[in-house]
Amino acid sequence: MKGKIAIRVKGAAKPFALDASQLTFNSVAVNGRPAKFVHDAKKGKLKVSGVPLRESVVEIEYDKQVSDDVIFGLYKSKYGRDYILATDLEPAEARTVFPCVDEPAYKAAFRLQITTENGVGVIANTPIVRKESAGSGRTTYTFQETPRMSTYLFFFAIGLFEEAKLTTDGIDVITATRPGQSENSRVALKIAAEAVSEYQRYFEVPYPLKKLHIVALPEYHTGAMENWGAISSRESYALITEQTSFTQKNRGAMSMVHEVAHQWFGDLVTMKWWDDLWLNESFATFMSYKMTEKLRPDWEMWGIFLRDEGFRALNQDALSTTHPIQAHVRTVKDAGHTFDSISYGKGACVLRMLEAYVGEASFSKGVSEYLKKFSFSNASGKDLWQALGSASGLPVSRVAKEWLTKPGYPLVKVKSERGKIVLSQRRFSLSGKEAPGLWPIPISFRADGKVSSVFLDRGAKAIEANVEGELVLNLDRTGFFSTLYDRAGYDRVAGGFAKIGPLDRAGIVYDLFLFLQAGLIEPELYARFVRLCASNPDAITTQIVTEQLMALYSIADDSPILGSIGPEFYPPLLEAFGEDPRPGEPPVVGATREYLTSQYASIDRTFAMKMAAQFERFAELDPNIKGAAAIGYALTNGERAEKKLQDMAKTLQGEVDRAKVYEGLCAFREPELVEHTLELGISGLVSRSDSGYPLVLSAFNPYARDVLWRWITKRYDYMREMYAGSQQFYLYMGYAIPFCGVEHEGEVKRFLSGKRLKDGGSSIARILEQLHINARLRKRLLEAGN
Ligand SMILES: [Zn+2]
Repeated sequence: MKGKIAIRVKGAAKPFALDASQLTFNSVAVNGRPAKFVHDAKKGKLKVSGVPLRESVVEIEYDKQVSDDVIFGLYKSKYGRDYILATDLEPAEARTVFPCVDEPAYKAAFRLQITTENGVGVIANTPIVRKESAGSGRTTYTFQETPRMSTYLFFFAIGLFEEAKLTTDGIDVITATRPGQSENSRVALKIAAEAVSEYQRYFEVPYPLKKLHIVALPEYHTGAMENWGAISSRESYALITEQTSFTQKNRGAMSMVHEVAHQWFGDLVTMKWWDDLWLNESFATFMSYKMTEKLRPDWEMWGIFLRDEGFRALNQDALSTTHPIQAHVRTVKDAGHTFDSISYGKGACVLRMLEAYVGEASFSKGVSEYLKKFSFSNASGKDLWQALGSASGLPVSRVAKEWLTKPGYPLVKVKSERGKIVLSQRRFSLSGKEAPGLWPIPISFRADGKVSSVFLDRGAKAIEANVEGELVLNLDRTGFFSTLYDRAGYDRVAGGFAKIGPLDRAGIVYDLFLFLQAGLIEPELYARFVRLCASNPDAITTQIVTEQLMALYSIADDSPILGSIGPEFYPPLLEAFGEDPRPGEPPVVGATREYLTSQYASIDRTFAMKMAAQFERFAELDPNIKGAAAIGYALTNGERAEKKLQDMAKTLQGEVDRAKVYEGLCAFREPELVEHTLELGISGLVSRSDSGYPLVLSAFNPYARDVLWRWITKRYDYMREMYAGSQQFYLYMGYAIPFCGVEHEGEVKRFLSGKRLKDGGSSIARILEQLHINARLRKRLLEAGN
C-alpha cells in the first residue's frame, strides 16, 4: 500500500517526532519544502527536522507492506480465495498504518481518500462524499471529514460488500458483509439500530455522526471493535439469525449494543490515557446489559451478567496476580494486558453497585452531564465520579476510589448467634491465605423473610437480630463480594434453598466454587449444593453449575466425587428443561439445554449415542443441541467421524455452526485426533477466526490434556506471531494452559518463564497462578470421597 499523509501541526515539540512502525518512508516535506527525517524503526519513531512552532503542514510519503500472516493492524481478512483489507487498531496499531501521534488524548480530524481498483467497495468512519475515476481501472473515494477523534478509532475496509440498512432517527445504520451474507445480518442490524435511538434518549446527546456501519469480517481476532461510525465485528457476532442458538444470538446482540454504547462513551468522550481503559470497557459492558434488558426483557440479562461478567471477575480478582480496576499503565504495551475480566467485568459490577447507590435517575443524569461536558475531547474516571456526585449529592468519588484503586475484593464472613448477626471482612484469595483488607460495602440481606441493609466499612460489625430460619446476604448479587456462612448458616441456606431466587442461588454456588478452589470448604459441601441445584431447577444456576462441573471434570475427571455428581446432576435437569424444544419456552431454557446436552454428551456414553443419532440432520437441528450432536458423533465414531467433521469445518459458511463442529472435533478421546484438530485450526484451510476454538474447547477434554500441552509448546511462537502478540493470544492461553497443564506444573513453569520477558509478565503470571490452583484442586478432588 502506498500512503501519503499531510498533518497540520501547531506548536510542535522539538524534536518533532511521530509514532511510526512497520512503514518505510520515501519523502518528508515541511510547508512544501523537503525536510530531513530519521526513522528509528526500533523505537518506532519518525523524527522530522525543521518543523517550526507556528502552524505548519508536514507531508509524508510512505509504503506499507501488508503481511499475509497477521490478523491485526492492517490485514487481509480472508474468505475462500478473496479477502477484505481491513484495519483493527486498538490500542496502538494506527502507527503501523500511518505516521501519527498514536495516543488517545491526541485527537485529530481526519480527511481520508482511498484509491483502489474499480468495482470494490470501501468503508470508513464517515460517509463517502465524492467518487471519481483515477484512471487505469481505479477509483478515488473521498470521505467526509471526521470530527476530532483518537487514532485508535480510525477505520477503513476495502473489499466486496453487500449491505443492509435501517434508518433510525435520521441515522443510517448499515451492516456490511461479504457477498451473500447480508440477510444473516438482520438480527444484529435491528438491535444495533434500536440501541442507537435508545442511547440518544438515555444520554441526551445525539449520535454524533451521519451513519453507523457494522462491518462483519470473515477473519477477526477478537469479538468486535468500536471504530467510530464503523464498528467491525467477527462474523459469529454480526451474522446471527433467528435460527442461531440463544447463547450465541445473545452474545452477538450484546456485542452490538456494547459497541454502540462506545460511540458515545469512548469515541465521543475518550479516556485521557490507557489507565482509564477500564472506564471505557466497564461502562460499555454495564450499559450493554442494562440496555439489552430494556430492549429484550425476556432475555433475563442480569443472570447472564453474573455468569459472564460478575463471576469471572470474582475468579480473576481473587488471584494475587490481579490488578486494581484503575491499573497503572506506563506504556501502551501494558494497556493490552488490562483488557481482561477486571477491566470489563469487575468495573461493570462496581458501576452496577454505584448505580444502586445513587439511584438510576441520578446515574443517567450524571452520565449525560459528563458526555456533554467532554464531547470531542478526553476525560478521566474522576470526571465521571464528580458528575455522578453532583447529580446525586452523594460522596461518589470517595466510595468509587476505594473500589477502583485496591486490587481484590472482600470475603464477608457471617455468623448468627444469640440475638445478633456478626459480619466481618477480609480480602479473599484463591491461594487460601488470610489477607487483611477493608472496603466500604453496602450489604443487603434477608433474615426470616425481612429485607434490610447495612454498610460495612469496618473490619467487623454486629447487628441486633434474632434469626430463626433463613439468612441470605447480597440480594440479587448487586455487591461485589463473596459470603462465607458458618456450618449452621449453610444448613439454613440449604433448608430454604427452594425459596431462594435464581440470582441469589447462583451467587451462593459461585461463592462455594471459589471456596472449593481456595480450600476453604470440603468438596462434600460443594457437592451438597450441586445436588440441591439439581433438585430445584432454575436456568441460570444450572448453566453456572454446568460450567463449573465442566472445569472440574477437565482437571480431575477421575475423581470419585465428580464420578458420583454427574449422574445425580444431569439426568434430572435434562428432564426438567427437556431434551427437545417446547413451544413458547423462554430463551434461557433453550440456552440451558445447550449447556446440559453438550456437557452430558461429553461424559456419558449412552447419552452421547443418543445425540450422535441426530447428527445426520445437523443442518435442521435445534441450534441448542447441535454441539451435543457433534460431540456425540465424534465420541461414538472416533476416526470414522474425523473426515466428515473436518470437511464441515472447512466448508460451512456460518461461523456459528462451525463453532459447533469444533465442539465435536475437540471431544475425541483419541489424543491424536484432537491434535489433528489443533493443527487444522492454524492450517490456513479454515478461517483464522476459528483458531481459538480448538485451543479453548480441547482444554475441557481431559483425554486431550497431554496432547494439547505438547502442541502448545510446539506452536506457541507461531500462534503468538499470528496474533501479533495481541491480548487475544494470552486470553486463549489463559483458557487452555491452566487446564491442560494440570499434571505438568513444573514443566509449564519452566516453559513459560522462558517466554516471559518477551511477552510482558502479567498475563503469564496469571496463567501460572490459576494453573497452580487447579493442580492443587486436582489433588484434593482425587482424595475426596475416598
Ligand atoms: Zn468495548
